[in-house]
Amino acid sequence: MRLNCNDPIPDRDDHVVRKGSEEYDPENPGECIDSNEPTTPGDMTERGCTYAGCRGVVGGPVKDVLHVTHGPTGCAYYSWGYRPHLASDTSQHMDNVFVSNLQENQIIMGGEDRLLETILEAHEEFPDAEGIFVYNTCSPALIGDDGFDVAKRAEEEIDDDVPVTFFPCAGFSGVSQSKGHHVGNNVIFDELIDPAETPEREEMTINIVGEYNIKGDLEVIRPPLEELGLDINVTFTGDGDLESIRQMPKASLNVVHCARSAGYITDMIEDAYGTPSIEVSFWGTRHMSKAIEKVADFFDIEERGQEVIDSELTAIDEQLQYYRDRLEGNRVFIYQGGPRCWHWPPMLEEDLGMDVVAVGSTFGHEDDHRKIFERVGEDTLVVDNPNGPELEEILADYDIDLFISGNKEKFLAYKRGISFVNGHSYDSGPYAGFRGLLGFAEDMDKAVNNPVWDLVGEEAEPFGGDGSPDVLDHVGDASGVAD
Ligand code: SF4
Repeated sequence: MRLNCNDPIPDRDDHVVRKGSEEYDPENPGECIDSNEPTTPGDMTERGCTYAGCRGVVGGPVKDVLHVTHGPTGCAYYSWGYRPHLASDTSQHMDNVFVSNLQENQIIMGGEDRLLETILEAHEEFPDAEGIFVYNTCSPALIGDDGFDVAKRAEEEIDDDVPVTFFPCAGFSGVSQSKGHHVGNNVIFDELIDPAETPEREEMTINIVGEYNIKGDLEVIRPPLEELGLDINVTFTGDGDLESIRQMPKASLNVVHCARSAGYITDMIEDAYGTPSIEVSFWGTRHMSKAIEKVADFFDIEERGQEVIDSELTAIDEQLQYYRDRLEGNRVFIYQGGPRCWHWPPMLEEDLGMDVVAVGSTFGHEDDHRKIFERVGEDTLVVDNPNGPELEEILADYDIDLFISGNKEKFLAYKRGISFVNGHSYDSGPYAGFRGLLGFAEDMDKAVNNPVWDLVGEEAEPFGGDGSPDVLDHVGDASGVAD
């Protein structure tokens, strides 16, 4: 479908499809829209790079290792502090950032010595860290630095049983941050989960996979699962620690929340260790209930599962109705990475009576788009990898009341007088689970029903009118002082 702003980039037409239009194919909904393709050169879209996906999403939340970026400071800066993946008992991973800080000299002569020095210095400063993750960026990849070899040399020099793990996640190596998720999963599985040390399977133990504890989401996701009587070995990777990640094969079940960023590791674990996995969504009452049901079914504790669901729903019922009354009917544009684009429409529509009219995904693949189309209503506009003018046109032409996106797009909404909630790193949070839904609803209520929107768009009184001081008086006063 052609958006007006895309006249100069007609190949964008295949990335924009309205559900129910001629281009839409209900038989193959994921295939009717192009996705996971390189961005057209010159098209300024909002994607992150492979390094961002590996360092920022998958590796970064592991809380007891040092995270070292091999590259210029700019790449490390980009990866630090923007994603609030909290940890329960240490802030090491959030407080510090390490980078080899490549300069022109290393780009010409090679940066391996500088990387080795950086790793050793980081270890010397923080000897208690359980491991060191090293992430590659574009420039050392282009000049051919051998990060694997440096990691091996660093391990030998440290000689303290501290694994140094290198991630070949140069920014240019994929079409988006999605490739970085894949690299992160592969390296963690290959390098850190050792088949020679396979732990004993534990009956009532699960791993939560693809959940990153943004602003404390685990505080609301874990309790209902624990009330089922389950032990949670690890969350991959929010609030995760190195040893528990190594112990992932001991769980009887992998419960996968974000399949896009972490389905790779559960597939590998299933192939190697036979551990089954189930895909769930922890967003909204219907899907959160279903998640509990699926887990309870697996462990044959259906009755207990129903009790937990009933008790959680009762606990939020009154407040949910309050927010529903305040949010019902608002038209929403969701622009997120991948899975939230299909996790959120049912939640906003069923739990809060909102109307999702447009959905944009930064890095969704074919299966993400299939799920988006399956879950949105007729006529919803779906856009893959949108650029700035497309976002602006949708905000302007689709009568949007609320834009749920990331900080980069916040002011695009504000300049158009449209309310905004930060869906990437949240305005407050947590947002997931039964109880997090209330926090999400509260932030949306504050955004949509903010009294400022009553003023926006009104004609401003000229200075000096309506009883305010006359501007010329002020000019006169100032002139007098200056004289
Ligand atoms: S694209 Fe390359 S240079 Fe840019 S942030 Fe990513 S790794 Fe660094």
